[in-house]
Amino acid sequence: MEIWRINARTHEFSREPVPTEWAHLGGRALLSKIMVDEMDAACDPLGPNNKLIFAPGLLVGYHLSSCDRISIGGKSPLTGGVKEANAGGRTGLQLVRLGVKALILEDQPEPDGWRLIHLSPDGARFEDAGEYAGLGVYATAPPLIERYGDKIAVALIGPAGERMLHAAGIQNLDKDEAPSRIAARGGLGAVMGSKRIKAIVIDGSQGTNPPAADPDGLKEARKRYIKGLLEHPQTQSYKDYGTAAMTMMCNTFGALPVRNFSAGSFEDAELLSGEHLRDTLLQRGGDCEPSHPCMAGCTIQSSNIFVTLDKGTKVSPLEYETIGLMGSNLGISDLDVVGRLNWEVNDLGMDSIEIGAALGVAADAGLFDFGDGDRALELVDEIRRDTELGRILGNGAGSTGKALGIERVPVAKNQAFSAYDPRAIKGTGITYATSPQGADHTSGLTIRANVDHRDPKGQKELSREKQIDMAGYDSLGACIFAAFGYSVDKSVIPGLLNAIYGWDLGETALQDLGRESLVHEREFNRRAGFTKKDDRLPEWVTKEALAPHNAVFDVPEEDLDSVFDW
Ligand code: SF4
Repeated sequence: MEIWRINARTHEFSREPVPTEWAHLGGRALLSKIMVDEMDAACDPLGPNNKLIFAPGLLVGYHLSSCDRISIGGKSPLTGGVKEANAGGRTGLQLVRLGVKALILEDQPEPDGWRLIHLSPDGARFEDAGEYAGLGVYATAPPLIERYGDKIAVALIGPAGERMLHAAGIQNLDKDEAPSRIAARGGLGAVMGSKRIKAIVIDGSQGTNPPAADPDGLKEARKRYIKGLLEHPQTQSYKDYGTAAMTMMCNTFGALPVRNFSAGSFEDAELLSGEHLRDTLLQRGGDCEPSHPCMAGCTIQSSNIFVTLDKGTKVSPLEYETIGLMGSNLGISDLDVVGRLNWEVNDLGMDSIEIGAALGVAADAGLFDFGDGDRALELVDEIRRDTELGRILGNGAGSTGKALGIERVPVAKNQAFSAYDPRAIKGTGITYATSPQGADHTSGLTIRANVDHRDPKGQKELSREKQIDMAGYDSLGACIFAAFGYSVDKSVIPGLLNAIYGWDLGETALQDLGRESLVHEREFNRRAGFTKKDDRLPEWVTKEALAPHNAVFDVPEEDLDSVFDW
């Protein structure tokens, strides 16, 4: 494996050996190590000194279900700190087939035109991409596939990334050529836009999957992983209902985001439930699919394909986070409206969590009535038309709250809460507050733990455990749901890593990776100027009681300050 380094200004390209101290890392852990080793943490996230890094996880390329994810990172224009956002689809596997352990994109050209980077066994070359400028991702991907073949992976930005809006993500082709597997959070699409790169085309079709040091050992560990995955009860549930299974669970806990986080349960929650979504997809038929793999070989298939009734727009997938933030959070109970909103933000190349939260804040400010889907779509169109209001919304919930003078802004480190109210799921609230990544359920979701989620006691330890585990999974390239297959037999992950790399890791391999990643992320943030005060939730969650349980976020500050004392 190699490090591929590309200068976006000079177009220089180099292949470098992997430094010894990076060799045991992958995905998220490798990103943070590169950032600490090579970057000035005080740099302008949209300036020439930020780097955009792509790092496949350590398990990518070994025919392991749900384990081919790509981690994308750099300094976040949204939070001002370290950022890793990962995605399914094809990007991770195609990079590994080219032998790329990390792709580091540096510097930036004069803002004069758009380019794409083509990666193949021959290396990297720049091509003019002016013809795609201003296009949404759904219009950009098909001609790229036609031009470069249907085996390629593509990582691309939409108009939001081109305009360097802070809620812009990087879309990736899924298994079926849909450009909608987004590395969504933290504004990395804006970083790609700042380097004037519209798309990265990765053609690993002439490459090979990497060899394993011990093929028989890999086969044996893979078998145990699949057995654990198939036997776990949640695997079937996620296959049937996808992440939308969380709607009713969160509603029961009083943790569903409702009307800009002003309540925790929604009168129309059932219309947004996994059951209703599945029934709708089955009844609608055609291109609709209730279970769909975002990457080849995924056994869980938590994704889906939703086709809206009115305009026939195809969204893949319609997920719980979008349903929560663009549905109940906006008082909207019509899945077709949520699907339309989702398609629009996908096409713009934006994070549906951040934009859903921004729209909720805008509704609180009186820009539209909760429940008015047409008006919500009009506001998203403001982003597309690049109006002043559109730019405020497109820079996220924090930007919208500041511009409109709203106090109830659901952000931590200026990044929007996911669809779990931190007052009702306090362990996840601790994750939002203390994660170096900003508010993000994928940094350490605690809702499945068998505890009283409204009791602040013991939540610190729970959040710590989940944050460490998730940083580990993100370093493996493992989907959050792959954890089902790893949860029972703790020897599976070290078994896989030892067989692949010839290492001699013990049962704490996952946690060791996770801790190392978090240490580097926190160090980067420290150098960027973050202090304990940044590990807090906004004051309103400590004062404003959340119906129906009148919960407030009352985790002591000492607990927030000692999450990482391990
Ligand atoms: S479980 Fe879902 S998100 Fe994870 S790899 Fe499979 S389809 Fe993609």
